[in-house]
Amino acid sequence: MSQRPGHCPQCDVYLHYDSDDTNDDMIYYYASCPKCGWNGIEAYRLEFAEFLDSDFNPLED
Ligand SMILES: [Zn+2]
Repeated sequence: MSQRPGHCPQCDVYLHYDSDDTNDDMIYYYASCPKCGWNGIEAYRLEFAEFLDSDFNPLED
């Protein structure tokens, strides 16, 4: 089984995404494979980076 983000773990083709969900420091993408029919969730850990203002500029001291 491969573990490449965005690719089916069974046959490695690009996944289709249906929806996503977040929970604390995780984000879950509900994915399905157009080739073999695999259905599952691609999970990522979120990590705090920094505060930005509403125009995506870093805050100044
Ligand atoms: Zn597949």
